[in-house]
Amino acid sequence: MWGHLMKGVLNICRIDVCDAGHETATSASKLYAAEELIREKGFAALTESIVLTSIDTNQECKAKKCACRIEKVTATLNNQLYIDLEVISIQNEQQSFLMCKPTDIPAYISLQNQRYRLAGIVKYQDSHFVSVCRRVSGNWEVYNDILKKKSKCKLNETVAPKAAVYIRVEGEYF
Ligand SMILES: [Zn+2]
Repeated sequence: MWGHLMKGVLNICRIDVCDAGHETATSASKLYAAEELIREKGFAALTESIVLTSIDTNQECKAKKCACRIEKVTATLNNQLYIDLEVISIQNEQQSFLMCKPTDIPAYISLQNQRYRLAGIVKYQDSHFVSVCRRVSGNWEVYNDILKKKSKCKLNETVAPKAAVYIRVEGEYF
């Protein structure tokens, strides 16, 4: 859905550099959290769970006739980030998506010395996507296009988050 609405808007540009200095740029529309860490520590560990520049040591350079391995990775982040939050949780041999309260998702995260504010989360409910927005004031509102009006968010209710959307904030705002 994000890919459809935000076509061409990328979250992250990653550049792989090999020993010989060849650069390969790839971009992605989503960021992912390390599921294991989230399962262990919950969504509070979101910042540390986001992997931006993991190096696969077996990855070969894509340049022609170059047999070097990738030795350095850099990542550039956009002003808004879409972070996939689907984390499988296994309880009593039953698989389900990890649940949390909206307020369990960190209101602010810092990545690469830049600060991002949580703008909202996307949840899946009754075969339908619903967005739960966090206003700058800290108030939460639910936007469900099946309903006529926006509704207040029940903050005690747990949801299975599909994704979180963060927006970069500039220094003077915090
Ligand atoms: Zn190379």
